[in-house]
Amino acid sequence: MLRNMLKHWGYEAVIARDGAEAWGILGSRDAPRLAILDWMMPGMDGVEVCRHVRAAAREPYIYIVLLTARTQSEDLVQGMEAGADDYLTKPFAAPELRVRLRAGIRILDLQEELLATREALREQATHDGLTGLLNRTAIMEALQAELDRANRSRQPISVMLADLDFFKRINDTHGHLAGDSVLAEAARRMKAAVRRYDSLGRYGGEEFLFVLPGCAAEGAVAQAERIREAIAATPFPNASGPLAVTCSIGVSSRDNPGTEHTDELVREADLALYQAKGRGRNRVETWSDFTPEVIEAESLPFDEESCSLHR
Ligand code: GH3
Ligand code: MG
Ligand code: MG
Repeated sequence: MLRNMLKHWGYEAVIARDGAEAWGILGSRDAPRLAILDWMMPGMDGVEVCRHVRAAAREPYIYIVLLTARTQSEDLVQGMEAGADDYLTKPFAAPELRVRLRAGIRILDLQEELLATREALREQATHDGLTGLLNRTAIMEALQAELDRANRSRQPISVMLADLDFFKRINDTHGHLAGDSVLAEAARRMKAAVRRYDSLGRYGGEEFLFVLPGCAAEGAVAQAERIREAIAATPFPNASGPLAVTCSIGVSSRDNPGTEHTDELVREADLALYQAKGRGRNRVETWSDFTPEVIEAESLPFDEESCSLHR
């Protein structure tokens, strides 16, 4: 009778003959979003099915209406406390069930909107709007997580910092919008050049941070070369004709980590990057080859005392 009614109201109904079958269906993937449960059923009763569904706490939410011959107030309390959303006593009037289901659908729709909004907010909070890459906070979190793992498992890890060369000139000559589209295109190329389990984020204006778990020094340099090449090999499209763009990359690696800190790796990659700038740009340098003299000879501002660079 219910099946026919539901079909008539436009619902697609899945029928279960007892509580265990109902839980089997509600616990599966792509489960129905709304359940009408008899209280009294052989084996697992409706209240128990309710408890199982709520304990699993899966998303999306399943809206549950309990149908029962019980009419005592304490029954209602017990049913709702088990996680039912609504409650209807038998015999019930069809129009009443119909409007209660509609109220359930409204709640499910609202919940769906809420989930979509939460997802959009999460995306906004962790990604950079221009390039779509992880933002600085998110890439630093990814680095921390990968470094913790590398320290624990003593697996190699590498970090790379890439900085576009003479990017100010692109802005000055072609305008800020052209600069923006170069940034977006550079991000696309970098993203396409990394492995699936590597992380890449926008570290600053035109600086990109890569985290390469499981990648020792040698592999990281090869990877950095691939990225440098991905930027330099083909000019970037631009309204006033193709633009030649290059980047410099600094690499810092740990082949056998154990007690490493994120700040240290990033600082080393940053210094190596400055060495790459000092040695002519469009090149890759590693922290292991770092020599402060080169930077000083190129008269880049380098404060040896604090080991920080002023750009
Ligand atoms: P170098 O080779 O030494 O790196 O030279 P550079 O010109 O790239 O050096 P610098 O780091 O001083 O310049 C970076 C410029 O990037 C400065 C800033 O105006 C620009 N920039 C930062 N963020 C954005 C952005 O989101 N869009 C655009 N169009 N430009 C940006
Ligand atoms: Mg730059
Ligand atoms: Mg820069």
